[in-house]
Amino acid sequence: MIRRGFRSLSKALWKIRRKAAYKSFMRSPEWDAIRRAALERAHYKCRRCGLGDRVLQVHHKNYTRFGGNELSIDLEVLCIPCHKIADWERKRAKKRR
Ligand SMILES: [Zn+2]
Repeated sequence: MIRRGFRSLSKALWKIRRKAAYKSFMRSPEWDAIRRAALERAHYKCRRCGLGDRVLQVHHKNYTRFGGNELSIDLEVLCIPCHKIADWERKRAKKRR
């Protein structure tokens, strides 16, 4: 019981730390450059619905190279509604594994 409690606590801490690292990276000039390059490659259009007149975000399809080493295959340019769907899909795929 105690062991299990400890494990969930360390898991929660890890999640918080990862979230903090994620947030600071999202504000970094490195990410800004990666993001801009991805947007340019996508011609400033959502990869899913093809709309270009929406606010676009750069979605991480995976976090394997997260933190500045992302390749174009790791990223997807999406509008906000499509991004929500993509995040949900990624979460669902992770649960299934
Ligand atoms: Zn879209």
